[in-house]
Amino acid sequence: MGSRFDVTVVAENEDQGNNFIDIAVNEISRIEKLISSWDPNSQTSEINRNAGIKPVVVDDELFQLISRCIKISKLTNGAFDISYASMDKVWFFDGSMTEMPSDEAIKNSVSKVGYQNIILDETKKSVFLKLEGMKIGFGAIGKGYAADKAKALLQAKGVTAGIVNASGDLNAWGTQPDGNDWMVAIVNPLNKNKVFSWMPVHNSAVVTSGNYEKYVKFNNVLYTHIIDPRTGYPATGILSATIFTKTAELADALATSIFVMGIDTGLDFVNQLNGVECIIVDANNKVITSNNITLKPNKD
Ligand code: ADP
Ligand code: MG
Repeated sequence: MGSRFDVTVVAENEDQGNNFIDIAVNEISRIEKLISSWDPNSQTSEINRNAGIKPVVVDDELFQLISRCIKISKLTNGAFDISYASMDKVWFFDGSMTEMPSDEAIKNSVSKVGYQNIILDETKKSVFLKLEGMKIGFGAIGKGYAADKAKALLQAKGVTAGIVNASGDLNAWGTQPDGNDWMVAIVNPLNKNKVFSWMPVHNSAVVTSGNYEKYVKFNNVLYTHIIDPRTGYPATGILSATIFTKTAELADALATSIFVMGIDTGLDFVNQLNGVECIIVDANNKVITSNNITLKPNKD
């Protein structure tokens, strides 16, 4: 998935541990083959190739994933949208941009984006992208989904404790061998060696979105690599968003959504959801938390 995965398991011995880790790696590769929009042989690529042409029958697993994505789009009012992949590239976050794209170019860039045009047929298990040139991509949810699936498979194999960490999108269960909770560090986005706080994770997921390395600045506004699929403008105001909830899939999608929504709407949104909490670091490096999180400052 173009990302590093770290798998931790508690096992009887090293051989058994390695064996479990292999199982997780195979599961992650299997999912990549299904959902990658880069791999021309994936079912996702087939859906994209047939945009505006015809529905494509897919595995139930992919069908269900897409249908959950659409539910998240509805929940977030379109802040999260897997058809973001239909966007024309008008923003570049590699330092190559010298001026802002025109309003018109930005508006046109999202003309094919819209989850309302992803048509699912529950009985046939088919997916149809209504507009020619439309595409879907799982960049904002795939790593979380893969982490959940690898965890579920390891649990089914009897692994009592572990962590699947997809480059900061993690799902943990059980405890460390000494009985202590797994702990996750909330780091300063501007200095990853500096820990703001440590949080215990009990059988749940923690996902951080924040690629502050990828941004562009115009008129003193920092535009980040996550783009609002409704307007074509990049998100501003947030350096990183961390979501705590049961599954890494939902956490992944919501972390991206919070970026798009911005601080006020994002916090309001999270505070209305049961079992979801967040920590946001704003553009001034200030830490803001949802209602049910109390941060203990790091003592290091
Ligand atoms: P990161 O780990 O890079 O911080 P995210 O989980 O926030 O990542 O996902 C960012 C990726 O998601 C982008 O590179 C792009 O592929 C995709 N994406 C960007 N904006 C959206 C959006 N509004 N809805 C769905 N996917 C998006
Ligand atoms: Mg995400």
